[in-house]
Amino acid sequence: MSVPTQRRTKSARLRRASHFALKKTNLVKCQKCGKPTLPHTVCESCGTYKGKQVINLKDKKKTLKQKDQDRKEAAKKKAEKKESKKK
Ligand SMILES: [Zn+2]
Repeated sequence: MSVPTQRRTKSARLRRASHFALKKTNLVKCQKCGKPTLPHTVCESCGTYKGKQVINLKDKKKTLKQKDQDRKEAAKKKAEKKESKKK
């Protein structure tokens, strides 16, 4: 591992660090609900983009538990179908 040959002075260190600050994110108001969103992205609170409904939020709001239940039900139906075919 390389070792620095000379100690950096405080001023040199701070000069370098002067570019470390993060820029503030640019937010735009949603056309439909007025909530701040990132530009050129779908609004997370209402699911619209350029005033058009793009995402169905009812589906998106399904909790993980609900999704798990749906999967289990689908698996049960499959198993029932297989059993009925065997008979
Ligand atoms: Zn919105």
